[in-house]
Amino acid sequence: MNCLACTHPLDGPGRLCPGCTRGLDERLADLPRQYLLLGLAENLQRRRTGDRGPVAVVRDAPMPLSEAALTLRAEGGIVTVLEGWRRQMQAARGWGVPAEGGPYARRVRDAARGLRMSLEWIAAEWDDAGELAHGVQGLAARCRAVTEPADPAQRARLLGYCVAPYGDGSPCGGEVRLSHGEKVAGCRWCGCAYPSATWLGLHTAQPEHTGAAGAGAAA
Ligand SMILES: [Zn+2]
Ligand SMILES: [Zn+2]
Repeated sequence: MNCLACTHPLDGPGRLCPGCTRGLDERLADLPRQYLLLGLAENLQRRRTGDRGPVAVVRDAPMPLSEAALTLRAEGGIVTVLEGWRRQMQAARGWGVPAEGGPYARRVRDAARGLRMSLEWIAAEWDDAGELAHGVQGLAARCRAVTEPADPAQRARLLGYCVAPYGDGSPCGGEVRLSHGEKVAGCRWCGCAYPSATWLGLHTAQPEHTGAAGAGAAA
């Protein structure tokens, strides 16, 4: 018998190897947090809309909302994928349909928890464990593509820290990075776009402590 997710040979009977089981568990545990992070980014963007900021040249930039964040948080996104898996799992175990309801954040948490509580059975016995592991892996990757910086191999150049105001008017402060081959940089946090015409404005608007962020490729 091989692991249904990574196809490595298993020591004994089972469906998932220890590594894939652990990975599935960690991703399920992290998805509720990812859901909240996506919402935070979305809220900052919404609150900023209509604000008058101190950096006009930046405020004139178009503001493409992170489509990915919206899609993942909407019906059909994280909540639907996880609840679908939990329903399928419970049916496979001969259990009834799980209770689903309340705010999306709670539904995401409940569905992830329900799957984790059956993790031992999933890894040992469920024929769909491989598909579940791959599905959750893909979902987690889509979330992290929005909430976390790109991996080092394709790391985008750091231009500075986002000066777009939101809410109380204080700057967003997210990393503004320029991806390879792109002409428009973007804030990783609020999604504010910085076309090349705004880069000088961004540079001069940086707080004094700009050098603190490690990557520092823009220096
Ligand atoms: Zn495996
Ligand atoms: Zn920002």
